[in-house]
Amino acid sequence: MDPAGSAHVECGRCGASMQLPSTARTAVCPYCAAPAIVERPRGAASVDPAFAMGFVFEAPRASELVRRWARAQGFFREPGVRLAKVEDLRGVYLPAYLYSAVARSRYSALIGEDYTETETYTTTDAQGKTETRTRTVTRTEHRPLQGEHAAYVADVLVTASRALGNAELEAVEPFDLRAIRRYDPSLVVGWIAEDPSMTAAECYELARREAVEKVGASLHGFMPGDSHRDLVHQTWLEQESLDLVLVPVWVLALRYREDRGLLRVLVNGQTGRVAGAVPWSRLRIALAVAAALLAVAAVVAAVLLLEPA
Ligand SMILES: [Zn+2]
Repeated sequence: MDPAGSAHVECGRCGASMQLPSTARTAVCPYCAAPAIVERPRGAASVDPAFAMGFVFEAPRASELVRRWARAQGFFREPGVRLAKVEDLRGVYLPAYLYSAVARSRYSALIGEDYTETETYTTTDAQGKTETRTRTVTRTEHRPLQGEHAAYVADVLVTASRALGNAELEAVEPFDLRAIRRYDPSLVVGWIAEDPSMTAAECYELARREAVEKVGASLHGFMPGDSHRDLVHQTWLEQESLDLVLVPVWVLALRYREDRGLLRVLVNGQTGRVAGAVPWSRLRIALAVAAALLAVAAVVAAVLLLEPA
């Protein structure tokens, strides 16, 4: 991953280690905007990705998506986000691991089967007379079920970057895996390409956890009956594979308040999905609570005033 004319740099603050094209020479980190970028030769242990997915749209479109997202933030979010200037958006090939495995599960659950019954009940009519009527009610009978289930889990994607955590990546997922192709160094020319900074062992752990969660979710859909409860499963993962893949994201560090850190916003380079953890506005929430308390106080005062002494 060393296209001609590019430089390998590292960020002293967030730890991102990346390849910068000559056109994107910058003094600040594209991830965290820290002026802590240093040029450093790429580590010998770095591995080339196996696969990559390309960017589908250019920077102006990404800016427009971020602006629209910022304007759509709710009243109780930091108002500065809606007004923040959207600039310095950078396209980054983020290293991630694509994980697949065969998942074998043993599960148990209580399966609910609904049935209807006609029951009689007594009621009092308008004249105060007691009447006996019938009605149809639905009841559920539960029976225990145990079984085994096997599934192929193919599309678990986890971050391989210490600078950009898995929750942040998940917020802009899914990626369109149909567009995946073999990695070719020419693909990243002109783009920032980050090197993986997490070990395969760490990514295996993240991916396994995600795979087991996915299996758990799909088991719910697999249960027979009208309803179920107490579903528990034990899952073993076999024939695992883990491939390094570059995924396209637009990254922006948004300054929304002078006295606060920067807010990182991501845009999925394929689907245009935007995500960022916009903080709540404490001031606006406090004002709303104060207004609600005042309204309650006003009602209480009115009731007390109207009450005959
Ligand atoms: Zn950084």
